[in-house]
Amino acid sequence: MKNTQQKQDDSTKIVGHLINGEIHYSTGPAQDVFNPSTGEVSKQVQLAQKHIVEDAISAAEAAFPAWRDTPAVKRARVMFRFKELLEQNAEKICQLIGEEHGKISHDAMGELQRGIENVEYACYAPELLKGEHNKNVGPSIDCWSEFQPLGVVAGITPFNFPAMVPMWMFPLAIVCGNCFILKPSERDPSSTLYIAELLHEAGLPNGVLNVVNGNKEAVDTLLHDERVQAVSFVGSTPIAEYIYTTATANGKRCQALGGAKNHAIVMPDADIDNAVNQLIGAAFGSCGERCMALSVAVAVGDEAANTLVSKMQEAMKTLKVGAYSDSSNDFGPLITKEHQEKVIAYIDSAEEQGASIIVDGRNIEISDFEGGYFVGGTLIDNVTPDMVSYKEEIFGPVLQVVRVDTMQEAMDLIDKHEYGNGTCIFTRDGEAARFFTDNIKVGMVGINIPLPVPVACHSFGGWKRSLFGDLHAYGPDGVRFYTRRKTITQRWPSANIREGAEFSMPTMK
Ligand code: NAD
Repeated sequence: MKNTQQKQDDSTKIVGHLINGEIHYSTGPAQDVFNPSTGEVSKQVQLAQKHIVEDAISAAEAAFPAWRDTPAVKRARVMFRFKELLEQNAEKICQLIGEEHGKISHDAMGELQRGIENVEYACYAPELLKGEHNKNVGPSIDCWSEFQPLGVVAGITPFNFPAMVPMWMFPLAIVCGNCFILKPSERDPSSTLYIAELLHEAGLPNGVLNVVNGNKEAVDTLLHDERVQAVSFVGSTPIAEYIYTTATANGKRCQALGGAKNHAIVMPDADIDNAVNQLIGAAFGSCGERCMALSVAVAVGDEAANTLVSKMQEAMKTLKVGAYSDSSNDFGPLITKEHQEKVIAYIDSAEEQGASIIVDGRNIEISDFEGGYFVGGTLIDNVTPDMVSYKEEIFGPVLQVVRVDTMQEAMDLIDKHEYGNGTCIFTRDGEAARFFTDNIKVGMVGINIPLPVPVACHSFGGWKRSLFGDLHAYGPDGVRFYTRRKTITQRWPSANIREGAEFSMPTMK
């Protein structure tokens, strides 16, 4: 490994790794990072080979004993300072997100704020870790359960939330006393690395958080190294399944969050104007590159469907698409040229399979940004469940409308879909909404709330093929995921309680 230094040097245009508190530039392979608004290469990211990831694991392993024994309140204090630094440097973080992801600053601010809320939750560490105690479970016998850290844990994150999703993981893992290896997306690594530097500025000891940039080789090293105790993953379903299968086969704890196809039911009694406003933001915000994006509207009855489609068509005339640098834009480009082509191919396939393209974003042109990976907001009507564009996750600014006759039909459609991340119902009928929340086979449900992303003190996770593992991300499940329960039963014999040998199973007779 070569060239270690304290901070990432922005002028080098090379994104390195952060190991043991220092930025490392290696001599190994690297790949281009693009500015999706222009299509130009902005930087190069180094791709960690096995030995670099092993160095990061060694640094984390060495830091663990002291960090584990640091009082939770002191670990939490680092998070308090980290939160302040995130707020003070919000503009720079959002600029880095915009340059490499294409997200407009208001949206990047929203993502960052959601990440900060997870840091705030981590500040509760002494409360979260205080355990359970039971006095006198037997004569002079006390019993308690405590939550101990696991050791070295890893997180692998997707491109679409380079600030928020890593902060679903490492703040909580770290305040629970673990040391962390983060492998961010190689497509937009700079904001994540900068955030990790801020955590060090906040006082985190070296080695507690390490960032390795890279691709499959880096991930596979984490999955196979026996020093890594647990792996959190967020990304697409095929990779989530691979991560879960491999990590658990190697004896690791794993939570792997995958892709989605989120349906919104629009009931005949819904406030359609409100539903249109909500749908337009939730379908097209962040160019549809959100795992909670609403990508299917299921309209119950032709009247609701006709009104919805015509009002959506009208509202979409005001959508403003363009480069991340103009904060008046509603959304920016897709992440890569390949992804832009894939999204367009899904729209083509819907058309070929008989759906009606009501608003077509395929040929959008953004002046001065002709090389950017833009697709305009697209509305497709008369979509049916056999269509490829319905079955698969598009991850672009495409809203598809499926028409059904009854709410039960709408619910059956959602339940049959392979994904079960988020869903929502637009209605004025409390009974229908209650039936929906009770019975729908989806992990996160909104009632007139289009993006029911749980706040930080709840946990985030889908059902079916949107999550592999038992525990959801962050919140109370996050604390459970990053700790191991130990239950201690204790007796201090006194002179007047002294029992003879007991050969039967001890009970409280
Ligand atoms: P991705 O699966 O391509 O990549 C995610 C991570 O896995 C990256 O760090 C990447 O380097 C790594 N990776 C990619 N291919 C790999 C391989 N063959 N072996 C090992 N590691 C590999 O996902 P993406 O394109 O970055 O993100 C978009 C996807 O993430 C969408 O499907 C979206 O729905 C999903 N997502 C889900 C959630 C959720 O909470 N369920 C949240 C955000 C994004």
